[in-house]
Amino acid sequence: MELVFATGNKHKAQEAQNILGSAMPDLKILTYDGPEPVESGISFLENARIKARAAYAATGKPAFADDSGIAVEVMGGAPGIFSAIWSGTRDDKTNRDLLLAQLNDIPEENRAAAFVCTIVLVTDSGEVSFTGIWQGSIADAASGDAGFGYDPVFIPEGFEQTAAELDPDVKNAFSHRSMAMRQMAGYLSEIERP
Ligand code: IMP
Repeated sequence: MELVFATGNKHKAQEAQNILGSAMPDLKILTYDGPEPVESGISFLENARIKARAAYAATGKPAFADDSGIAVEVMGGAPGIFSAIWSGTRDDKTNRDLLLAQLNDIPEENRAAAFVCTIVLVTDSGEVSFTGIWQGSIADAASGDAGFGYDPVFIPEGFEQTAAELDPDVKNAFSHRSMAMRQMAGYLSEIERP
């Protein structure tokens, strides 16, 4: 089966390959990096739907997109859907540094956060969505150089180190994107069954 992943983010594409590839060895993942539709939604679900529909319309193949971000409890869920452009730029380090500065005076016990990922899958038979949430907290300072985005400042629950200090296979076993993708793999296996 062929499945199109609407993303221009090579880190996400690699994570999808690792996660979905191991869950569904017969699956061929193609990436679609067409003209970026405007992410005008007000939720992860709406933005993922906009991107998945655009890829399905352009390719005519079953397509999925994710929308993801980091939600900090004491900030009312921000940066949330604005994670990628939180500082007004798309630069990961600038975005992380701003978040750390905003949390400067916030003590450890109030730095709870979660990575959220919602996937929308569009097929000939309709649309379905999957959401994964990875709980953790925001570190005092960035560390580690694996991963991308806010990984260097996110300490997952049950770990001492940041997501950027984890082996990529460990991140892929626990992450929000991994949870959502595994749900999708389960769904695809069900509908593929004769
Ligand atoms: P999206 O491409 O619109 O889904 O934007 C997601 C943004 O959220 C990224 O640019 C990152 O800043 C952040 N983000 C989402 N998932 C992750 C992750 O797994 N690690 C680190 N940052 C992430």
